[in-house]
Order: sequence, then structure tokens, then C-alpha cells
Amino acid sequence: MKCYNHHDRDAFGICTVCGKGLCLECMTGKKDVITCKDKKCINIFNLRRILLIFLYIVIIIALFVFIFD
Ligand SMILES: [Zn+2]
Ligand SMILES: [Zn+2]
Repeated sequence: MKCYNHHDRDAFGICTVCGKGLCLECMTGKKDVITCKDKKCINIFNLRRILLIFLYIVIIIALFVFIFD
């Protein structure tokens, strides 16, 4: 796969939001949480992360309520 922005460069990762291939210069984030430098993708990624954390908290509270009820 080639970089979405640089067609002459090999992609080192794939944006977890839009699925585009990215070279080292075009990617941002860490190993398994790569996104392109597109603001849309970064915003969606951050939103997803917040939702995921929120979901975890809800599950933990639900478990506590279930156990100590
Ligand atoms: Zn992207
Ligand atoms: Zn690139």
C-alpha cells in the first residue's frame, strides 16, 4: 500500500478512522492508534476514545450495582 498523500512512498500505517494508508510524515499517534493528520480524523478519534472510556465507566458502575445490590 502507498501513502494516500504521497503516491511514491510506502505506507507505514493505516488511519484507524478513514482507513487511508499513511507514510511516517503523514501519520500521527502511536503504534496501534494511528490517524492521519486530518483534523476530522483526529476529532473523530478523540471522540471515540472519550466514548469508549465513558462506556467502560458505565460497565464498571453497572457491575458494582449488580454485585452489591
Ligand atoms: Zn484519517
Ligand atoms: Zn505521506
